[in-house]
Amino acid sequence: MTTVAEHQAAVRALAEAALRGAAEDVPLGAALGRILAADVTSAIDLPPFDNSQMDGYAVRAGDFNRLSPDAGTGPLRVTGHIAAGDPITAFAGGAAAIMTGAPLPPGADAVVPVEAVGGPGTFAAVGESIELHEPVAPGAFVRARGSDLAAGDTVLSAGTLLGPAQLGALAASGLTTVAVRRRPRVLIVSTGAELTAPGEPLAPGAIYDANAIALAAAVTQAGGTALATGVYSDEPEHLRVALDAAGPVELVVTSGGVSAGAHEVVRETLGPLGVRFGSVALQPGGPQGLGTIDISGFPTPVLCFPGNPVSALVSFELFLRPLLRGSRPTTHLPLAASVESPIGKHQVRRGRITTDHTVELVGGPSSHLLAAYARSDALVHLPEGVAHVAAGEPVEVWRIDE
Ligand code: AMP
Ligand code: MG
Repeated sequence: MTTVAEHQAAVRALAEAALRGAAEDVPLGAALGRILAADVTSAIDLPPFDNSQMDGYAVRAGDFNRLSPDAGTGPLRVTGHIAAGDPITAFAGGAAAIMTGAPLPPGADAVVPVEAVGGPGTFAAVGESIELHEPVAPGAFVRARGSDLAAGDTVLSAGTLLGPAQLGALAASGLTTVAVRRRPRVLIVSTGAELTAPGEPLAPGAIYDANAIALAAAVTQAGGTALATGVYSDEPEHLRVALDAAGPVELVVTSGGVSAGAHEVVRETLGPLGVRFGSVALQPGGPQGLGTIDISGFPTPVLCFPGNPVSALVSFELFLRPLLRGSRPTTHLPLAASVESPIGKHQVRRGRITTDHTVELVGGPSSHLLAAYARSDALVHLPEGVAHVAAGEPVEVWRIDE
């Protein structure tokens, strides 16, 4: 029996390189949720010029403070009016009315907010004087050129997941496209003679295929391109035909047909091709297979997950998602009620995080309880060696509600 960590390492060694993918350039508008393929540096300083952080008056702090050595007050003549978008012009002395984002005139070194002079929005006209009531520190309310990022600095490093702030930072640097990792293509093959496509009539003894949709969605959510096909049969010949018809992909994931029963189609078909099957000390998700098979003329890694829907999804979370998207957000929370767990297995239970920051289990440990999984927002880990967790004891929790 293999440990979870050993199988995770084996899957990583098998599939990581294939899943990493080449880089492709995409427009920023299409890059949400993609993973940066290379470090990105900014060609410009951010901000690109010294500018005002407030609507106010640009002044030379030293000049102004000299006028009123006692309390830092005194009249200053208004010498200009600078709006956002105006070109950079030299400072004419005194005080220049300046708006938020407008370039600070070279020679001025501080901004006095208009609120410190008169009512908000009431600006003195050029030629009038303003009276200030507090000393001004050099640099006050000035957003210095390069204070967010200097030209040549790394904006984001390779491997970063691109969300709104990351895309905004790339746009602020003037970029229109970005090199991201190609989405890995993952072929999902659900197998089993009892399976029926949703929408078809359900014969006695048949069940609907949940895994094709669930695993494809999991792959898509983790940034891959999912291609799903159902082989609703336990005949090795039918699975072979489906795999022979598949186009090139970076990874194949099968569900079902890997345990110790009499009609284990995946094991019977892929075992002779060199795919290894064994037991991982995991519940649910014990029976697992992995290897390399020929797809469309290319050696392609294959992962074989058990067919129970909860087992298939837990297998995805533990073995495949980390390679596609990295770790789930992990916390430790007190368990709401005590629980028993098989000591020789790493058990993964489904749970819900409560408003008082504990985690309560949803449904039992059985791997057919997919509707209970669907009401959960967390996976709860009860590692190998743990037989009992008392109420209130902390457990490792993965948040799965992205
Ligand atoms: P297997 O791994 O093929 O032995 O299947 C284990 C259990 O999962 C059996 O009860 C199957 O009927 C069920 N099962 C297998 N594949 C699917 C699927 N795609 N959707 C829903 N249930 C499945
Ligand atoms: Mg089966």
